[in-house]
Amino acid sequence: MTDKSVLIIDDSPTNRKMLADILKDEVDVLEADTGEKGLGLLKSHIGHIGIVLLDLIMPGMSGFDVLSEMKREHMMDYVPVIMISSADEPGNIEKAFDLGALDFISRPYSERIVRRRVLTTISLFQKQASIASKIDRQYKADDELIDKRTGLPYKKNFFNQVDTALRNPNLVPLYMVAMDIDHFKLFNSYYSWERGDEYIKKIGSILASSTQRHGGVAGYLGGDDFALLCPARFDLVNSLSEQLNRYLSENSFEPSFRTNFGIYSVDMARATDAKALYDLAAIALETIRGDYTRTVTVYDPAMIQKEQDEYKRLLNIRSGIKNGEFTIYIQPKVDMNTGHILGGEALARWIHDGTVYSPGLFVPVMEKNGLISSLDKLIWDRSARYIKKLIGEGINPLPISVNISTTDIFTMDVPEFFSELIRAYDIPPALLEAELSESTFQKAPERAADVVSRFHDIGMSVSYDDFGSGYAPLSTIESMDVDMLKIDTTFLRMSHENPERSRNILEPVLAMAQQIQLPVIIEGVETEGQADFLKRMGCYYAQGYLFYTPMPTERFTRLISDPAMVETEGLMIGAPQAYRVRQILSSDYISDDMVTNLFGSIVILNRIGSIVHVGWSLLDHYRNSSLQELVDKDNSTSISDFVQDEDREKFDRLFESAVENKDQGAKGTITFVTSEGQIRVRIRLYYLRSNVNEQIFYSMLDQIDE
Ligand code: C2E
Ligand code: CA
Ligand code: CA
Repeated sequence: MTDKSVLIIDDSPTNRKMLADILKDEVDVLEADTGEKGLGLLKSHIGHIGIVLLDLIMPGMSGFDVLSEMKREHMMDYVPVIMISSADEPGNIEKAFDLGALDFISRPYSERIVRRRVLTTISLFQKQASIASKIDRQYKADDELIDKRTGLPYKKNFFNQVDTALRNPNLVPLYMVAMDIDHFKLFNSYYSWERGDEYIKKIGSILASSTQRHGGVAGYLGGDDFALLCPARFDLVNSLSEQLNRYLSENSFEPSFRTNFGIYSVDMARATDAKALYDLAAIALETIRGDYTRTVTVYDPAMIQKEQDEYKRLLNIRSGIKNGEFTIYIQPKVDMNTGHILGGEALARWIHDGTVYSPGLFVPVMEKNGLISSLDKLIWDRSARYIKKLIGEGINPLPISVNISTTDIFTMDVPEFFSELIRAYDIPPALLEAELSESTFQKAPERAADVVSRFHDIGMSVSYDDFGSGYAPLSTIESMDVDMLKIDTTFLRMSHENPERSRNILEPVLAMAQQIQLPVIIEGVETEGQADFLKRMGCYYAQGYLFYTPMPTERFTRLISDPAMVETEGLMIGAPQAYRVRQILSSDYISDDMVTNLFGSIVILNRIGSIVHVGWSLLDHYRNSSLQELVDKDNSTSISDFVQDEDREKFDRLFESAVENKDQGAKGTITFVTSEGQIRVRIRLYYLRSNVNEQIFYSMLDQIDE
């Protein structure tokens, strides 16, 4: 329950009544039938209105005008606005988001959703407002000497102490370190203000014990900002970072809320005042905001330029969003065996002054500044709208996947947003797919797992994007209940430089995916060579320039209008042939008898130069046969030493030809000289892979009876 009221601004009496009926048991409802009246009520009741439900399309003053006016009067800081919209006005949604609306509800109303949305928004907003005022109070006591919460010197006092320390003539080399917590505001609203408080205290105590042991000065600057003057030792800063990471994991906080450290190495010859040193450290800190892979960085002069460039770009991006310069391109996903298209990925593009810019230019900047969610919502909206359009034109639509950022899953109810989109556009949920990236699964594993399961609840499927771009262990795939694994381009780049290595890494991934029945798609396929390599390994699906580059929606529509281009079969699950065999050979869930029957005659041969020895065989299968001596891997004589002299060259050529014909392999008849005499053996040979200087083959040996 809340003591705040809901203000409904809508020109339609029926709509107002429907909404009021849903809400009136739980909150007081105020109604206005025009924008002007709504604004009037807002101004006279500002402290009492907990939320505004706003119709966008009204005669006279429209919902947009109301939003602009509220923004101008800074009312958005006190009152959240949820738009009411219907399917025929989807383009307006993003415009309203830009004007500061928080959310939207579409007609026809679902009672449950309206009630939940309205009540949670009111309470979340109140919580946030109280946090903000607490932080404000913190800031106001500017001349406080010691911050009570952390026990550290506060602001002015800290800077004074540093200035004093810098005047010491016997200075050791020093670091000025700026620290803050990534997304601390999110931390507070996601866990609680109290847990946030504890985290701040923890940082304070770690810094205090560091200055006790190693000297220096630690300070608290308000909010989640800390500073430290300490001996110039990188390991010292690193250990602070590690202690805090441990704190997060011990308390089961998501690792995305790590504390970042920006270091400025104090130039003794030109040491300036404490504040200037801190500003430089803070610039370094700024460069790793949102970068999960790094929590500690050292200032370098290029950072200032970069900071300024990014700021300018950010201004451009902001106005780009307002001016509708962002749109989607679609990159088809193909079945490499047939060339058929199975779907597409919607990728953001910024069309600015006639140039089409790729996300590399705007996504990282937007992620850092919290703008990414508004772009994402826009892209999701465009994608849903596009699917609707395809259906309307009578074209058989294919699933379109969209990207979800880590911040999205903390700042909003993403599955709920999609469920609204799906309702608003009235499209089948299976046609929209969510891509959550490896970094999201790493930064926020629990939250991500929850989001995945709720996507499933509404009938959408989820891809694990960018697998292999970071250092996620294989087990993360198993623990996340995703529907498709997208392998990052890193693997293919590696396959060019070091095919064996990339094969070694890919094989277990593909085998694992096959075991848990997870379809796999690989990104960034650029050459026929790569495509062949992948197909041989049992990877059938790809997204890459070799097939299609990302394209405007009109072109994608033309492509899939041709039924011959489109995949109609279900997704296949593959695994590398070689690995499958090896896996079976080495696994214990198949009995030895089964293996003997299925693969008994297989012998793994290892070849170094012209010497070939047996790496593995099922000796039982050959027991009491004349081949026994040849295929015994514990025999000190290599199998190549048994080859009759006249056949040595032929034997060698057989291996060469197996390497050249990977798919067909090689076959031939060779005479061996064993302790029991000469035997003629038919050999089938397949090249498996290389290992440093050794080639590995599998072979089948049959004695030819005289
Ligand atoms: P991603 O999700 O891994 O998307 C695939 C990227 O690989 C796309 O780059 C695509 O153009 C590129 N690509 C596809 N095939 C090839 C190839 O054969 N060779 C090479 N070198 N690249 C290929 P794009 O469109 O520049 O997007 C880059 C990244 O930006 C995306 O990576 C995704 O992480 C992010 N992104 C794109 N759209 C959005 C969006 O709407 N929201 C968010 N949050 N991120 C987005
Ligand atoms: Ca993606
Ligand atoms: Ca990707």
